[in-house]
Amino acid sequence: MSYAYDDQNIFARILRGEIPCSKVLETKHSLAFSDISPKAPHHVLVIPKGPYVCYDHFAHTASDAEITDYTRAIGAVCDQLGVAPGDGGNGYRMIANTGNDGVQEVPHLHVHILAGRNIGPMVLMRP
Ligand code: 5GP
Repeated sequence: MSYAYDDQNIFARILRGEIPCSKVLETKHSLAFSDISPKAPHHVLVIPKGPYVCYDHFAHTASDAEITDYTRAIGAVCDQLGVAPGDGGNGYRMIANTGNDGVQEVPHLHVHILAGRNIGPMVLMRP
């Protein structure tokens, strides 16, 4: 596995405090903040603080502590937004765009949590 992390990407700069964000939640290894261009009433990005380009990079090289923290942080954001179906919420869409075909714009792992309305079909129906 070979990934080159660009530490000038916008989320790295948010993590260093060089540009502001609207923080939703912060843990030891993770940060959640509102997307600057929301596509739904709730649109939160959850990122690990470590230098991981995408999910498979993270899954293969992050520590167990980081992976646990990130997974729990995503759950906590869903709780905070009140969207978890198990708690009476109406659900959400979680997306991790990856690489060229996944149309990933920012090369730092992030999941989008979209909620607050019916998010629609998963992808455009094109084989
Ligand atoms: P991607 O296409 O990489 O999955 O999504 C990147 C997301 O980052 C986009 O939804 C975009 O609106 C968001 N984004 C880009 N720049 C900024 C920024 O400076 N601040 C915040 N909060 N979100 C950003």
